[in-house]
Amino acid sequence: MATLAQRMAGVELLVVDIDGVLTDGQIIYAGQELELKAFHVRDGSGIKAWHDAGKRTAVITGRASAAVARRAAELGVAHVVQGAADKLAAFRAILEKASLAPAQAAAMGDDLPDLPVLQNAGLAIAVADACATVRRAAHYVTLAPGGRGAVREAIEWILGCQGT
Ligand SMILES: [Mg+2]
Repeated sequence: MATLAQRMAGVELLVVDIDGVLTDGQIIYAGQELELKAFHVRDGSGIKAWHDAGKRTAVITGRASAAVARRAAELGVAHVVQGAADKLAAFRAILEKASLAPAQAAAMGDDLPDLPVLQNAGLAIAVADACATVRRAAHYVTLAPGGRGAVREAIEWILGCQGT
């Protein structure tokens, strides 16, 4: 069984869910098709710092919206899977594309669809307000809730432990 320090040392890819992780989970409907989401600016600057440290990011979300495509492009997210019915399949496809092992991935989630990814990633992180099952499955639970700097907190924590 790997220690938490060992799990963190090898992380090269951060895999994040959108709703409830990179946002607070609210989905605002505007008109027939448009979905509005609010992203936290410090999560964004954290992801940029993550990339500056030579790391990569992937987004896996069950929903699909233009807002996610725009935010991911803005932040230079390497892999974006929207409308993922099977998040574990999407996770495995990303690992293959990135030539990485599951142990080199940290996954962040808030709800049950994220669970298979969390259970297969080297490091499993839950946001503070994740459902109880996801919190129990995580190696680390952030102090910040989803959409309120949880991703930034996880990045600072991993980079800090990696000494970068
Ligand atoms: Mg979610």
